[in-house]
Amino acid sequence: MADLQPAPTTLSVFDQIEPYHHESVVFCHDEETGLRAIIGIHNTVLGPALGGTRMWHYASDADALHDVLRLSRGMTYKASISGLNLGGGKAVILGDAKTMKTPALLRRFGQFVERQGGTYITAEDVGVNTADMAEVRRQTRHVTGLPGEMGGGGDPSPVTAYTTFLGMKAGAKMAFGSDALAGRKVAVQGVGHVGVHLIEHLLEEGATVYASDYYADRLKAVVGAHPGVTAVGLDEIYDLDVDIYAPCALGATLNDDTIPRLRAAVVAGCANNQLADEHRHGPMLTERGIYYAPDFLINAGGLINVYSELHGYDRAQAFAQAETIYDKTLNIFHYCAAHSGTHPQQAAIQIAENRIAEARAAKEAVLA
Ligand code: NAD
Repeated sequence: MADLQPAPTTLSVFDQIEPYHHESVVFCHDEETGLRAIIGIHNTVLGPALGGTRMWHYASDADALHDVLRLSRGMTYKASISGLNLGGGKAVILGDAKTMKTPALLRRFGQFVERQGGTYITAEDVGVNTADMAEVRRQTRHVTGLPGEMGGGGDPSPVTAYTTFLGMKAGAKMAFGSDALAGRKVAVQGVGHVGVHLIEHLLEEGATVYASDYYADRLKAVVGAHPGVTAVGLDEIYDLDVDIYAPCALGATLNDDTIPRLRAAVVAGCANNQLADEHRHGPMLTERGIYYAPDFLINAGGLINVYSELHGYDRAQAFAQAETIYDKTLNIFHYCAAHSGTHPQQAAIQIAENRIAEARAAKEAVLA
């Protein structure tokens, strides 16, 4: 789903780009196929910029640019903090995936990816699936998230759900003194690809699950197939008397309206860009005694999975690397506990930026 907040309307294209410090932003246009896309290459200090392609019917070009800038910057942090030798990038294709996505458009997009010379590696995201990536692959080698029969890891959602589950356990350890989730009440917002796998981990561990979804039929199907899950309303989810809130749908659900309503002691979910404004809402959660597990850290499982494809996909190895997310999340909570005035998102960004700065300094030392 689009993690979309409206773009600042009065800014020029360059003014919109400037605060994010991108290496390059590529506008792709093709009349014949109707392709309109933007590739955001945020940072390649640690390696090629890897990040999925999202197809979404944006309200404006400015919204699409805003989305790709935020998402590609998030990928830089996600790769860095996960210890992967990757930079951060992302692409958006403007248009309705249900009506405008054609094999020719995807192949044309693949040609634009190829032109980036390997500085950008793509994968699937909202509106784009593994079969689409197979089409893109016809024009470029710089693709991950391929189907298993093409040597890929297939759907990355199970690994994303696993790292989200581990991040949630780290939050529980801080809030409740134990990371066991048996008997804990968890509200899962969004029962899509990741949400369902997360629910399965939670039920296996003996948690009580409440779930919401924008699509009533999807929610009904998930509740029907998983005894122990209670369906709740879209807005009701913020007021529930639960221990843990797991945002697994859209971004920006942690905002001025929702945070004061939350009764959970832990927030840990897979959605990207959960904090509407990280500078205000990160501290707001901490001030309320809520342990917020940084989104780009605990949803890194999907990236870990596609990274594995670059070296010959190994599912067991991807899950083993995913295990590190528990300790990383716990370390951030401990750091914040020892340093007042900071909050988990800020600490996570700092760790990610430090690793990039060290790598940049090492590269410059070699060149000097
Ligand atoms: P998805 O599209 O399969 O599922 C999202 C679900 O959220 C859908 O069922 C949708 O109906 C529901 N939804 C939308 N608005 C809602 C609302 N207001 N309240 C409740 N439900 C709502 O997506 P996904 O692949 O499961 O990803 C979920 C989130 O995690 C997204 O933000 C995505 O960017 C992020 N993410 C996913 C992965 C991955 O591996 N799939 C990796 C990293 C981050």
